[in-house]
Amino acid sequence: MVYNIALVKGDGIGPEIVSSAVKVLEKVGAKYGHEFKCTDYLAGGCAIDATGMPLPEETVEGCRNSDSVLLGAVGGPKWDTLPGNIRPEKALLGLRSALGLFTNLRPAKIYPALSGACTLRPDIVAKGFDLVMVRELTGGIYFGERGRRVGKYGDEAYDTEAYSVMEVERIARVAFETARKRRKNVVSIDKANVLETSRLWRETVHRVAEEYPDVECSDMLVDNAAMQLVRDPSRFDVVVTSNMFGDILSDEASQITGSIGLLASASLGSGKCGLYEPIHGSAPDIAGQNKANPIATILSAAMMLRYSLDLTAEADCIENAVNAAIEAGFRTADIMAGSEGTPLTCTEMTEKIIERL
Ligand code: NAD
Repeated sequence: MVYNIALVKGDGIGPEIVSSAVKVLEKVGAKYGHEFKCTDYLAGGCAIDATGMPLPEETVEGCRNSDSVLLGAVGGPKWDTLPGNIRPEKALLGLRSALGLFTNLRPAKIYPALSGACTLRPDIVAKGFDLVMVRELTGGIYFGERGRRVGKYGDEAYDTEAYSVMEVERIARVAFETARKRRKNVVSIDKANVLETSRLWRETVHRVAEEYPDVECSDMLVDNAAMQLVRDPSRFDVVVTSNMFGDILSDEASQITGSIGLLASASLGSGKCGLYEPIHGSAPDIAGQNKANPIATILSAAMMLRYSLDLTAEADCIENAVNAAIEAGFRTADIMAGSEGTPLTCTEMTEKIIERL
């Protein structure tokens, strides 16, 4: 099979880590008889430099017409002082909305060989954890009406949250379908003791849950969830929540694994074309130095094979090779955590993974 992949390498370490993932895809393609035809598109700071806009129309069209999109990261200090409407981050929101991507999937798990990098107590780490955060991506307070006005105490600002039944139903279905492929447990997180949007969220999730009698479903208030994630993350399988709660909790879930250089993500819509990217940013402090950990991007490519291209064996092959490289003791600087020896470069780590495919 031939698959068309749009590559949006972006800024900072983006080009280094996406190139690593492409090398892995080429090897997997050769092994399983596929061709991954990759085309580069500009987005973020590099697009601002080249075209004056963070998300050129050509990039949107190219991504829309591809089977899937693999993205590095965008942004950096060079563009920090630009006005809000032409900031690199605009490219991400623009791409998500142009591709209709309403779900963000973020797996977070502990690798036993890297348990030393985990920030939790050893007895909690020993239980292990492997969860997926399913975050609603295109609704809620980040997209609600906002503004400034003069209120009772003078100048004030406001943001509003709205969720429709349709938006909650479709994200809940993603969570239940994901749980069916895992340990069949969904925890829905809200703030139903205070927020009306959360009460609608909860009612709707319960109704959708009836369609999935084989999946256990429970609710948790967001403040309790923030505690439970550090107290006993092993209790979670699939977590589903709104845009803002998901933004905060998914960063918390990734932090407890020990390194953001390891964590992949997928943004999905109703079609097959998804956007796959590491959860970290463009790491300007190490950009161009061949020091970045390529694993998060390589695992994002594996998620792309699994979710957008239905290539399960190929995705397993990549994930197993990453596991094997970590188990064999290979480390980039960010996951050394006091280990002896010299850290591998981005290129060397990529080679160690490719050798194990
Ligand atoms: P960051 O994730 O880029 O970096 C935080 C720290 O983690 C840095 O010390 C960095 O060196 C390290 N790090 C990140 N990825 C790594 C990797 N693969 N290997 C080794 N170390 C890694 O976050 P930041 O410094 O807050 O942001 C830098 C820029 O990235 C900003 O312009 C921000 O807006 C942007 N950003 C982009 C995205 C995205 O494109 N999705 C996400 C977050 C931040």
